[in-house]
Amino acid sequence: MLVSAKEMLTKAKEGHYAVGQFNINNLEWTKAILQTAQEMNSPVILGVSEGAGKYMCGYKTIVGMVNGMIEGLGITVPVALHLDHGSYEGALKCIEAGFSSVMFDGSHYPIEENIEKTKELVRITGELGISLEAEVGAIGGEEDGVVGSGECADPAECKMIADLGVTMLAAGIGNIHGKYPANWPGLSFETLDAIQQKTGSMPLVLHGGTGIPADMIKKAIDLGVSKINVNTECQLAFAAATRQYVEEGKDLQGKGFDPRKLLAPGVEAIKATVREKIELFGSANKA
Ligand SMILES: [Zn+2]
Repeated sequence: MLVSAKEMLTKAKEGHYAVGQFNINNLEWTKAILQTAQEMNSPVILGVSEGAGKYMCGYKTIVGMVNGMIEGLGITVPVALHLDHGSYEGALKCIEAGFSSVMFDGSHYPIEENIEKTKELVRITGELGISLEAEVGAIGGEEDGVVGSGECADPAECKMIADLGVTMLAAGIGNIHGKYPANWPGLSFETLDAIQQKTGSMPLVLHGGTGIPADMIKKAIDLGVSKINVNTECQLAFAAATRQYVEEGKDLQGKGFDPRKLLAPGVEAIKATVREKIELFGSANKA
């Protein structure tokens, strides 16, 4: 059964570790992430962007697939199914379809409008026991066509949104989506510390987890980050393993063209990435 992310993140904040959100794209992705979380006895959050939602034929298809997989694979660790960077309308659709968690990304609205829409979703999700992530300060890079500049959030605005009763808060601290450029100045721990001071026990979310050095991840967790989003890194690992399989001509040997064989190295590569992240984030054996 899918669960809200509230309990797993409250425990993570108290226990000084973080829960990974791994974005899914298809059956292979979902299976690889669920199996790895189960093997490591870790809670896990499956992220779905609106674009990935369309790709997988709508939110109901995803809910059906994930619920079926939890049963079929005998998954017993806590699993939250979460909309990533949702619009207001997208969040409502996911709630209706059976998601257990949603993010409303109102960071591109003026703060007053972000507050109004977030407040309405706090009411709706609260009644249903669904967790809600809000965002202040656009996160850089590009995610599904939404381009942010990597700004640092205003800690006072973070407190205003946190006080509305959201479950978790994403705040820009110089992080960006996708690969980090060579001249990236790193995370702004000063901003993170100021946000944490103002928002207290609120679990903070770090987006753009791909390529942030391990020591920065550890420091971010020390400063109150309880959820870390990983997307691009699984994509890169999957693509590299698939490329190698094809370049070695394995698809031309015997039944190497069978999709279950062709996609297997990519699945193993996703599993290895997820395993490494769960170890780094410290959520193993915290289910
Ligand atoms: Zn993000």
